[in-house]
Amino acid sequence: MLHNFGSGPAKLHKSVYEQLAQSLIDYEQTGLSILEVYHRTPLFEAILEEATQLCKELYQLDASKEVLFMPNGATWHFNLIAQNFIHNKAAYIHSGNWSKKAYDIALEYGKADIVASSENNHFKSIPVIEQDLSAYDYLHITSNNTDVGTQFHSYPNSSIPLIADMSSDIFSKPIDSNAFACIYAGAQKNIGIAGASLVIIDKDFLSKTHKHIPNYYQYNQWVNNKSIMNTPPIFAIYAMLVNMRWMKAMGGLEHMHAQAKEKAKLLYQTLDNSHLFEVYARKEDRSLMNVCFSMKETSLHNSFMHFAKEAGIIQIEGYRTVGGFRVSLYNAIELASVQHLCDVIAAFDHIPR
Ligand code: PMP
Repeated sequence: MLHNFGSGPAKLHKSVYEQLAQSLIDYEQTGLSILEVYHRTPLFEAILEEATQLCKELYQLDASKEVLFMPNGATWHFNLIAQNFIHNKAAYIHSGNWSKKAYDIALEYGKADIVASSENNHFKSIPVIEQDLSAYDYLHITSNNTDVGTQFHSYPNSSIPLIADMSSDIFSKPIDSNAFACIYAGAQKNIGIAGASLVIIDKDFLSKTHKHIPNYYQYNQWVNNKSIMNTPPIFAIYAMLVNMRWMKAMGGLEHMHAQAKEKAKLLYQTLDNSHLFEVYARKEDRSLMNVCFSMKETSLHNSFMHFAKEAGIIQIEGYRTVGGFRVSLYNAIELASVQHLCDVIAAFDHIPR
């Protein structure tokens, strides 16, 4: 049996795959494959409507929020956020590779500053803001740093609109959505499959969109057109719907959070108790979604990789600029797989050398 701990595109639950597979052959007994459903029909409208309702229900969104299902991944929103919302200048928290990418792209559209950074400790912690942000249009954070395995466990109390790239911890825990002007995420980790993204955006904040940018890049226009600006990634959006149904049936985000805590606790404890392994992030800021670690003796790296592979454990290579190992614990990863990985780590740790 394979245990895929990949960081994304990531594993979804088997029952989600089964339903998706069925939809490819015959979508809800219509005689059509989901792949040939026309997007301007009641069939697709129903998919969008239910997906929107489920997102609102899972996150308990109130009427102040709009939900968008858009094509492309989070990188597109690095662009759109800056393009739509930088009037004066934007503030970015630099907590890893993805936050830097978002910041660098923002600079292509306007002025932006890094207002807090953990670069000087190699992103092992979540930075804290110590400056006044009132001159900025928004504050951008990466809620979970997929590359280094750190996560915001509480969000900055910001007087300016807060925007979060939640690509790698979306739908992993309940949040106070009213703390955010905008949340966005690529779908391929914890919501669905690659090719689509989810945006939750505040109606008041939307009114701040630049009007001089092309329609296709204006979030407003995506709202006005109910997420259909052109042929949407129908299968990817349907995959989000089926996965959200699964999350709801499992007990919603409280359940996902409880599971995430249990899985992460087990793995971090195993690593902390080992002789050979060390966790990358400092304890307080460790991610419940991506556990990054390495061998104290780097010469043992390949040997452990091989040992793990023999035990069916795959896709645990660390992020390319970080090295070591990375185990992703998104919602569909079973506790039993994490227990298996922990047993493998402990067994490797105890091999006489
Ligand atoms: N943000 C974060 C936190 C990520 O982990 C990733 C991808 N790993 C991205 C953005 C980029 O996402 P995409 O490939 O969907 O553009």
